[in-house]
Amino acid sequence: LNRRLAEFGTTIFAEMSALATATGSINLGQGFPDTDGPEEVREAAVRALREGRGNQYPPGPGIPELRTAIAGHQLRRYGLSYDPDTEVLVTAGATEAIAASLLALLEPGDEVVALEPYYDSYAASIAMAGGRRVPVTLRPDGGSFRLDLDELRAAVTDATRLLLINTPHNPTGTVLTRAELAAIAELAVERDLLVVTDEVYEHLVFDEAEHIPLATLPGMRERTVTIGSAGKTFSFTGWKVGWVTADGPLVSAVRTAKQYLTYVSAGPFQYAIAEALRLPDAYFDGFRADLRRKRDLLGDGLRAAGFEVYQPQGTYFITTDITPFGEKDAYAFCRALPERCGVVAIPNSVFYDDPDAGRSQVRFTFCKRDDVLAEATGRLRRLA
Ligand code: PMP
Ligand code: GLN
Repeated sequence: LNRRLAEFGTTIFAEMSALATATGSINLGQGFPDTDGPEEVREAAVRALREGRGNQYPPGPGIPELRTAIAGHQLRRYGLSYDPDTEVLVTAGATEAIAASLLALLEPGDEVVALEPYYDSYAASIAMAGGRRVPVTLRPDGGSFRLDLDELRAAVTDATRLLLINTPHNPTGTVLTRAELAAIAELAVERDLLVVTDEVYEHLVFDEAEHIPLATLPGMRERTVTIGSAGKTFSFTGWKVGWVTADGPLVSAVRTAKQYLTYVSAGPFQYAIAEALRLPDAYFDGFRADLRRKRDLLGDGLRAAGFEVYQPQGTYFITTDITPFGEKDAYAFCRALPERCGVVAIPNSVFYDDPDAGRSQVRFTFCKRDDVLAEATGRLRRLA
């Protein structure tokens, strides 16, 4: 393994899912639903396979039907207008979109200011692109995590090329407010920065929280690469259909990198997701309501088991603190959890440059059946 990747071994998600399998534990670690997405979307994929649509290399930027559906979704939901031919790119999941964006837009040595704790592929993708990550840490504040705008501003130097934003935020569940986004936008314009914004949890927001795409703020459309994914919105994480929407020259740059990573993305699933994106609002509203209920089910269960719970406004994750158990090391706690009570979770410490910053934080997912969540929280009560 070369020096750029030396610090990145097996991802925590693979490690912890393997532990769940090996121990027969309930897996509340890796974020994937245990119920597949809509039947009609699955049928659309089967139809495409049978009818021979997408079984050979589809067009590099993605099939026109899907690019049109993505552009239609951005316009309908957010009033953002993108040309399906030049301003939309289909990728192999959001993961490839992140890697391709950074590989395309960074020069070696460029600094990337990223929210921390961060989704683990950010650090690896920045490293592969030869960039330097500069974390801005979200900190617990009144029961949830918040961004300190002064810290963000102070992190930007003359070497900063790009801000890497994620809202709704994995793993904290924070949804950036309009005021926070406005401050980010102002900073990006003032310092002439590009912004890559990972919005894969755009539809998973609860209570009063609202997802506001960064690209909708003044001065942002021309400097923002927005990343989405069908995995989270439609519960098909195994299909690996993601996308990028941005101004033409940015999409053209990202497409250049994508061509040499995967060339194209798998065909039949693209036809199915094109149909999924046109589902009525009732689908999105129903999915959100269901998850909100599950959030409360898991949150109540974790509190009853003795965890300190940070209330998420979005995503399908809950970050907790294990200090009430007299525990300090999230990684050791998560390694031991299957044996102690048959549950798997993710230590947030691996999402920080300084693991001490997240030393006592543990993340649980609630995208599981109600009976599974009830059984898991019942088992966690044994920790007390
Ligand atoms: N970004 C974030 C914040 C995520 O949590 C995930 C995990 N699904 C991804 C990107 C990757 O998405 P995909 O599975 O579409 O590659
Ligand atoms: N995004 C999901 C999570 O955070 C899964 C990611 C992965 O397995 N790479 O759990």
